[in-house]
Amino acid sequence: MPVADMIICVDCGGPCQRVPAEPPELGWQPGDVVAYRCRDCADVWYLEVDIDDLED
Ligand SMILES: [Zn+2]
Repeated sequence: MPVADMIICVDCGGPCQRVPAEPPELGWQPGDVVAYRCRDCADVWYLEVDIDDLED
């Protein structure tokens, strides 16, 4: 499963866009921390990239 462009906000159910939207030049690495900002409540969520996220 690839790193998601968007997740659903745990608090309000709104869409959270990945910040920044562009993937890193060299691709994602396990342990990278990806931020998602909620459009509706402006909460920021941080997810760590897992090795499973990088395998198809
Ligand atoms: Zn929210």
